[in-house]
Amino acid sequence: MDFPPDIFPPFPDMRPGEVWLVGAGPGDPRLLTVLAIHALRSANTIVYDALVDPRILRLAPEGAELHFAGKRGGRPSSHQRDINELIIAEAKKGRRVLRLKGGDPFVFGRGGEEAHALVRAGVPYRIVPGLTSGLAATALAGLPATTRETNHAVILAAGHHAEGDDSHAWEALAATGQPIILYMALAQLANIVAAFRRAGMNPDTPATIISQATSEGEKVIDTRLADLVVDAETHGVEAPALIVVGATAGLRPALAAGMVRP
Ligand code: SAH
Repeated sequence: MDFPPDIFPPFPDMRPGEVWLVGAGPGDPRLLTVLAIHALRSANTIVYDALVDPRILRLAPEGAELHFAGKRGGRPSSHQRDINELIIAEAKKGRRVLRLKGGDPFVFGRGGEEAHALVRAGVPYRIVPGLTSGLAATALAGLPATTRETNHAVILAAGHHAEGDDSHAWEALAATGQPIILYMALAQLANIVAAFRRAGMNPDTPATIISQATSEGEKVIDTRLADLVVDAETHGVEAPALIVVGATAGLRPALAAGMVRP
């Protein structure tokens, strides 16, 4: 890869003692940013999440230390406090630390919490944004975030806290009439759909499920609000998955029909 200096400003050095919070995009290594590739080639400690595609880790320099910090095989995820401590301790040892997260580090990635911990610990850090799955995996599947005909806003929402008390919050989101892109929503899907129905959302509202986007196991299922839960089950949808509910989902079948995938 050639990056002519008259086009690309110089790449910053990753200095010993720094932590870079880097987004790895939705999976396919071709969706990494140029800056993320630079970071991957510069780091000597890499702390990565379960969502990071294994191919991407192969860009790490020989001899770099790799630390897994995520959920694996049903075991509970690493505690956020332990991850914060690890990246701070590695930085204080003078390592060049890359904290690698799926998608974008500041979109449901706890990047904000880690940045906060680094500031408190006096560790210099940098953010390298990534393509967030909710916008990139959808686009790749032929599902636009907005079109002038359908919506003037789009909601990104995390679904894993949809139990009990906050169902009014889901009803309020539904009442906007804008498309909702749900992350981490599989386990709570029935509760979320029920809240949308209570808010008066039409059962025929288009919905799309996109699971394991950009990997070999990718599945894309076009359905409607009323069938969402059943379709997720009958197709055996597995995490990670995104669920889009709203008019933009209805555009997908026609757009996908003529689309060439990268
Ligand atoms: N920071 C990430 C989101 C982390 S939360 C980002 O910006 O994309 C984890 C959720 O992201 C998953 O539960 C799923 O909803 C979504 N996700 C991430 N990668 C995905 C992929 N390849 N396919 C489908 N969903 C994905």
